[in-house]
Amino acid sequence: MKAVIVEEPGGFENLHIGDTPNPKGEIVIKVKHAGLNPIDVNTIKGKTNYKISPFPHIPGAEIAGIVEESKNDKFKPGDRVIVYPRFFDNSCTYCISGKQHLCEFGGIYGATSNGGFAEFFAAPAMNFLKIPDAVDFEDAVGLPVGGLTSYHALLEANLKAGERVLVVGASGNTGQYAVILSKIFGAEVYFYSRKKWLTDYGAIEWKGETVDLIINSLGTEFFKNFLPYLNKEGRIVTFGTYTGKLTEIDLAYLYTGERKIIGSTGGTLSELQDLLRIVKNYRIKTKVWKHFKYTEIKEALQQYDSKDGRIIIDF
Ligand SMILES: [Zn+2]
Repeated sequence: MKAVIVEEPGGFENLHIGDTPNPKGEIVIKVKHAGLNPIDVNTIKGKTNYKISPFPHIPGAEIAGIVEESKNDKFKPGDRVIVYPRFFDNSCTYCISGKQHLCEFGGIYGATSNGGFAEFFAAPAMNFLKIPDAVDFEDAVGLPVGGLTSYHALLEANLKAGERVLVVGASGNTGQYAVILSKIFGAEVYFYSRKKWLTDYGAIEWKGETVDLIINSLGTEFFKNFLPYLNKEGRIVTFGTYTGKLTEIDLAYLYTGERKIIGSTGGTLSELQDLLRIVKNYRIKTKVWKHFKYTEIKEALQQYDSKDGRIIIDF
C-alpha cells in the first residue's frame, strides 16, 4: 500500500510517499480521511513528548475509514468507523477503571506505533467505533483527537453551566471543539484568536474579562499571560506544548484563590462514544479549511501554521 513514511525524525524533508506492506490485524480499514493535528506535525518534526516508534514511521493519529476486513462479529466490511487513537492492554489498573488513555502499557497510534496516514490501517476491534448514519465522515474524523481532547478536558475541569470559559487558540482543532462543546455545556464562551468567524459558533471575542476556566493548549508562550485572568476557584487546563513546555507560576496567586492547574490528555473510549452521539444530536460542524490529498502532505504541513480552520487529509 501507499503510505506517508517518515524515514527518520527531524523535519519535513525526511518524509515521503512510499510503498509498505499492508497492515494485519483483527480489523483492517481502508482509510478515507485523517485529521492533521499538532501531534502529527510534532511527530514528523521529531519534537514530540513521546518516543516515536518504529522507524521508518507512518504518522497519523486521527483516522476515519471503511472496514475492509473483520475477524470480529461486531464489524463487517463496509462499516464506517473512527479509530480510538490509543492502544491499550485492557487489563491494567487504569484500563479497568475505564481510563484507556492512561494505560500503563499503552501508546498512541501515529506516534508510539504506526498510524493512519496510509491507504490501510489495522488495529484490535476494541479500537473502532461505528459512525452513526446521520453523521458525515467529515464531521466524524475530527473527533478522535481534536474532539476527544477537548471533551475530556472540559470533563476534567468540571465545567458547569453558566461559567465563563476562555479558549486560547480557538480556531485550531481542539480549540473549535472546546468552543462548541463549552456552549453545549451551557457556558459563556470567550475566544482568543485572530479568527473572527468564531462568533458564528456563539463565542465572544475576549477583551480581558476574568473567567472560571481557561482552555490553553498552546504551551509556554501563552500560559502565564492568561493565568492572571482566572477567577477564584478558576481552573486552567493544559494538554499541549506547541510553543514550549516550561513556564513560571506565582504559587501564592494559585493557592490564595484556590485556583487549579489541570493536566489532561486525550480521553477515554466511552467519552469518544459519547462524542459521536453529541455530534449526531447537536449536528456539530467544525470549520474545515482545506482538504489535501495524501500525496500533498508536505504542502499541508507547510501551511499548517497559517491554516484557517481544520485540515483534512484524503486517501
Ligand atoms: Zn491498560
